[in-house]
Amino acid sequence: MNRIVLPGATLGVLGSGQLGRMFALAARRMGYRVHTLSPGIDTPTGQVADLEIDADFDDLDAIRAFARGVDVITFEFENVSTAAADAAAEIVPVRPTGHALHVTQQRGREKAFLAMKGYPVTPFEAVGSLDELTAAVDRIGLPAILKTASFGYDGKGQHRLTAPHELERAWALVGHQPAVLERVVDFVLEFSVVAARGLDGAFAHYGAIENAHRHHILDLSVTPARMAPEPVAEAVAITESIMEQLAYVGVLCVEFFLTSDGRVLVNEIAPRPHNSGHLTIDACVTSQFEQQVRAICGLPLGATTLLRPAAMANLMGDAWTGGEPKWEAALAVPDVTLHLYGKTDPRPGRKMGHLTALAETPAAAVARVLGARDVLA
Ligand code: AMP
Repeated sequence: MNRIVLPGATLGVLGSGQLGRMFALAARRMGYRVHTLSPGIDTPTGQVADLEIDADFDDLDAIRAFARGVDVITFEFENVSTAAADAAAEIVPVRPTGHALHVTQQRGREKAFLAMKGYPVTPFEAVGSLDELTAAVDRIGLPAILKTASFGYDGKGQHRLTAPHELERAWALVGHQPAVLERVVDFVLEFSVVAARGLDGAFAHYGAIENAHRHHILDLSVTPARMAPEPVAEAVAITESIMEQLAYVGVLCVEFFLTSDGRVLVNEIAPRPHNSGHLTIDACVTSQFEQQVRAICGLPLGATTLLRPAAMANLMGDAWTGGEPKWEAALAVPDVTLHLYGKTDPRPGRKMGHLTALAETPAAAVARVLGARDVLA
């Protein structure tokens, strides 16, 4: 099962959003063919793939048929079921494995894995009822954040609790579903480590990427992160260790909090290329998407060398409220690149694309990318 998948072969992607699109663009540049499966047509990935299959992720016959047409399968959407990953794995290698997906696709399971293995995490408790939530709040204290256990979609399903009378409402808002209660962390910085592990166990990482969120959704990423080298080294070591524990093959992202007393806490794991790594397309020798291609194909990992400091700003559907954004104005800013995902329906809160700016310093890259985003309106 460990054979190398060489250019000319066909890579299968379960899921069809922007992550699959940028993966497919990297794969095709390297001479691979790409097939994608998801419910829907004319998807961001389908638009740039060789073949787009319209099927549900729980249609195991469709997954098996899809697997027969490709040489290796990866996913860009972590809510693919274990049954689907297993059905595919009967036919072709699935990288990363269904096991890695299983551990990381449910917040409670992921937190339990991290805590059991001794990684530093936010104080948390899994809750399955209002009584359990009340008991958990007694132990964890307030303010706290109640998060649905199953990852839904960006920032949805998170409710901040500041007073005991809010518990009942928050429990209703998460839909009486299994959830995780976390203490609110007084962080000074959020950052992520995007890294890859090859079929041979080789490890490569992009250092620390600094992240800023708006309404629980990533807004801005900057590299190199403006923080001391010690917590960066600690976070990279944690990331490498997590990947080893999961026998991981592919690209993974660990999101961290840096606390005011200099500690590093794991927030969550994304078992795939990550929004914060999009700036690697323009700023690094090997992008996170090419790295994913290399890793799942059993090829040597590429150099993660940063060519210049960079910043990435997401473009949400809100940018279209005044009509089509003024692309020509943003593109007049030097050293700025535009990435659009081919989505035709710019709903508020929907990720439509991003801008990346390169500059001499991280601060200059931030100023440049925000300036470019500002002139879109
Ligand atoms: P998540 O979906 O868990 O990554 O949460 C999205 C964002 O909400 C994080 O990136 C933080 O900005 C914020 N957040 C989540 N959990 C916590 C926490 N325990 N304490 C403080 N802020 C949090």
